[in-house]
Amino acid sequence: MTEKEFLALVKEIELLKSTLALSGWDIQTGMPERASEYRAEQNAFLSQLLFERMTGEKMTLAMEYFAKNRVELSELGQKVYDKVKEGYDKKRVIPAEKDEAYNREASKAFTNWIKAREQKDFGLFKDSLANLIAMQKEFITLWRKDEKTPYDVLLNQYEPGMTVEILDEVFGKVREGIMQIRQTIAEKGIEPRVDFLSRKVPKEFQISFAKELSTALGFDFSRGRLDEAVHPFMTGFNYNDARLTSRWNEEDFQMGIFGVLHEQGHGQFEQNVSPDFEYTPLKNTMSMGIHESQSLFQEIMIGSNKSFWKKQYPRFQEICEGRFDDIDFETFFAGLKRSQSSLIRIEADTLTYVLHIIIRYEMEKMMFNENVSVEKLPELWNDKYEEILGIRPQNDLEGILQDVHWTSDFGYFPSYALGYMYASQMKHAMSQTLDFDTLLKCGEYLPIKQWLDENVRVFGASVKPKDVLKNATGEDLNPKYLLEELEKLYFDVYQVG
Ligand SMILES: [Zn+2]
Repeated sequence: MTEKEFLALVKEIELLKSTLALSGWDIQTGMPERASEYRAEQNAFLSQLLFERMTGEKMTLAMEYFAKNRVELSELGQKVYDKVKEGYDKKRVIPAEKDEAYNREASKAFTNWIKAREQKDFGLFKDSLANLIAMQKEFITLWRKDEKTPYDVLLNQYEPGMTVEILDEVFGKVREGIMQIRQTIAEKGIEPRVDFLSRKVPKEFQISFAKELSTALGFDFSRGRLDEAVHPFMTGFNYNDARLTSRWNEEDFQMGIFGVLHEQGHGQFEQNVSPDFEYTPLKNTMSMGIHESQSLFQEIMIGSNKSFWKKQYPRFQEICEGRFDDIDFETFFAGLKRSQSSLIRIEADTLTYVLHIIIRYEMEKMMFNENVSVEKLPELWNDKYEEILGIRPQNDLEGILQDVHWTSDFGYFPSYALGYMYASQMKHAMSQTLDFDTLLKCGEYLPIKQWLDENVRVFGASVKPKDVLKNATGEDLNPKYLLEELEKLYFDVYQVG
C-alpha cells in the first residue's frame, strides 16, 4: 500500500460524505415532498458504499500497513492517517448489526418524539429514550479507553480532551457568575423598551440587510449561498461551497438577521480551512465547540457589540424605509439585548442561553454517570429550571421534549456553551493586538476575519481544540472572559452602575 493509494481511498470517502451532505441540504431546502421515498433509496445506497469504504478490506489493510510503516507517510499523510484511524476504530468496534439497530431505534425515537410533543406527554417517548440510553451505554463500554467516567467518553467524541472534571468546574463558575449578573440587573437595572422589535419588516428587506452584513464580515457568496429552511443550519461540502439557511418572520426581524449572522460564522469557518486538507477529513473542524465559537463570535462578539450597531443601525433604518426613524440608537440597541427567563432554549437570550445548556449537561451526566431512571427525568428537568432560571415548565413540551438531540445523540450540548467561552476568550486575545471596538465602529471587519482565519480556521481538524485555543489565546479554557463580556454588555443595556 502506498500513500497515494491510501489518499485515493480517503478521497472517495470524503466525496461520498459530501454527496450525502448535499442530499441532506436538498431534503431540508427544496426537495419535493413526494421525492422522499426515492431519496431514501439514494441515501441508503450511498451510505452503504460509505460504510464499506470506511471499514472494508482495503481500509483495514491501510490501517494495519501504516501502523507498522508510518515512516512511509508524509507529514500530511500521517495526520490524515491518525484522523481516519479515529473514525475507523469508532466504527469498527461496534458490530454492524448493532449500529443498524441503533439507527433503527433512533428513527423510531424521532417518530415517538413527534407524537409525544403533539400530546405534550413524555410517556410516549420514554421507552425509546430508555432504549437509546441503554444502547449508548453498551457502546461506551466498547469505545472507552482511559476516560474517567462513561459520560467523558461521549464528551470526547464532540470535544476531544474535554472531561466532566473540567466542565463541572467551568460550568459551576459560569452558572454562579451569570446568576449574579441576573440578580444585579433585576435589583438595579432599568428594563429596556422592546415594543418596536415586533414592527413589521418585509422579508426581502431582512434578507438584503443580512446578506450585506455577511458579505462585509467576510462570508464569500461566490463560494456559498443562503436559502430558507424550517430549522436553520449551515452545511459545507468543501471550502468553495458553504450553504447557509435561515428562516424569516416579518414580525420578528431579529430571528432571521441574527440567525444569518450565526450561520455565516459557521460558513466562514468552512471557507477558510486550508485548501491543503481538501479531500481529507482534516478539512473538518477540530471540535464542535470550536465550530460553534466561530458562529457565536459573529453573532455575539460582533453582532451584540454596541459599536457594531452604532455603525450598522443607520443602514438598517435606511433599508427599513423609515419604520424605525422614531427609535433612537440607544433604545434600539438596549431592546435587542433584553434578557428574560424563558423555558425554551432556542428562544433564549444571550445572558441566559448558557444556563439552558448547563441544565442539559447535568441531565446527561445523570443519565450516563448516575443511572437515573428515565421516569424521573421530566421532574428533574423541571426542578432544574425552577432552581436555575426561576421558572417551571407547565408541561413536557415546554420542558424535556423541546430538543430533538436526544432522539439520536448524547454529549453534544456542552459544545454550545464551550463555543460561547471560546469566542469570548478569542476576542480577549485578539484585543491585545487589534482595537476591536474601533474596527467595529468604522465597519472595518477584515482584520478580525484575518485573525480568526490565521489562528483558528486554517487548521481544520489537523489540531486538537485544546491546542488551538492555547496557541490562539495563550491559555487554557477560562470562563472569566465570557462573564466579563456578559457583565459589560448587560450592565450597559440595563444601565447599572
Ligand atoms: Zn451554530
